[in-house]
Amino acid sequence: MSISLRYEWQQRRLPIFLIVDDPAPCLNLAYYEQYFEKHTRDVPNSFTAAWADVVQEFGVRGKFSVLPIPAAIGRIDRPLPDVAPHDQAEFLRIIRERVSPQMDINIEFLTHFLAWDIRRDRPLDYTEKTMSPFTNRDHLTEYFMYGLRILDNVGLNPTGATSPGAACVEMEGAYQSAIRTAVKEVMGRPIAWYFLHVDTLSPRVLPRIMSLDRETGAGCVTMVSAGDDASWDTQFNMPSTIDSLITADGQAGRLVDLFRNESVISFHTHWQSLFSEGRATGLNDLRVTLGRIREHFGERVKWMKCSELAEVTVAQAVTRHAVVESETEITITLHSPIACPDFTATLHTDRVVHSVFIGGQRLKELPQNTPVLEAYSWSSQRGSVTWCADLPVGESVVKVS
Ligand SMILES: [Zn+2]
Repeated sequence: MSISLRYEWQQRRLPIFLIVDDPAPCLNLAYYEQYFEKHTRDVPNSFTAAWADVVQEFGVRGKFSVLPIPAAIGRIDRPLPDVAPHDQAEFLRIIRERVSPQMDINIEFLTHFLAWDIRRDRPLDYTEKTMSPFTNRDHLTEYFMYGLRILDNVGLNPTGATSPGAACVEMEGAYQSAIRTAVKEVMGRPIAWYFLHVDTLSPRVLPRIMSLDRETGAGCVTMVSAGDDASWDTQFNMPSTIDSLITADGQAGRLVDLFRNESVISFHTHWQSLFSEGRATGLNDLRVTLGRIREHFGERVKWMKCSELAEVTVAQAVTRHAVVESETEITITLHSPIACPDFTATLHTDRVVHSVFIGGQRLKELPQNTPVLEAYSWSSQRGSVTWCADLPVGESVVKVS
């Protein structure tokens, strides 16, 4: 008989996260970046508050960009042109107090438009989307640190980065190293993440570790979006395509396919798409999508910040285990350089399991084939047993008998 151990997602629930790109305090990026089209400039804080309402009502997690120097018009830790100072402060307060508890805040390079001269504090004559020939690992590290410090100055606690467009995809090795170093230097966080890739075709789309120190658990993880922006065209007064994500009956759509394939479930949208030039069509449609997710996926999915998912992904990669079987019990010794809440693992064994102990603590037995575990519980299924408990730094011992 063979015994093997497999790590699962926390509580055996599929991670789900939402990516929101391009927000800036009270300004619509499209007004500046798509200057050749007609766009509304001002995004009122009533809209930002309505967004925060949706985040809180549905328990949404994921990530929310805040541009450190939107469209290269000015730093957000100083009074922005085109924005009343009290409006700027109120936007930042809403994001800090109501959004950031549930969503990672991140830089999206600095401007999303013209690249920025970080020595002379002024825009350059090329865009961030085309800046890869003009930068390198060291410069990009400084560039990211510059942006992280601006967000840190306004109390936003940034944890990662997003590319405007697919900026610097040509130099991803240097890019991942730059954001990892920058997040460590400015924020003191050993694990960084970034969003650069969209994959709307693969049946399963998982976070990927781009660099890792196995001894310490420090590293960098790329967060891939698996589902397209369904509301981009609402800027142009066209409808969202939310059925492409999940239909009202929950039976079709990209997110449903990911769910059925036991993938991580991710999708992205843009601040412009939610704002819809002041109509908030995209935000209202997102509310419908979130309602469908809640109705049809329920407890089988777990909303997560990108930083949380990055940490779980790293914990799964760096946790080593040894399995020893005796007449009376199976002993699993786990060893990890980082902690992980609700760490979940499945042991394949033909034994009938009566109890699971971790570090001497008896875990709560749930009925056979319970799909979702709770903290400090276990459940068996035919040929295997799954448990969920916090993983400490260092060694922990699991006894199955
Ligand atoms: Zn963007």
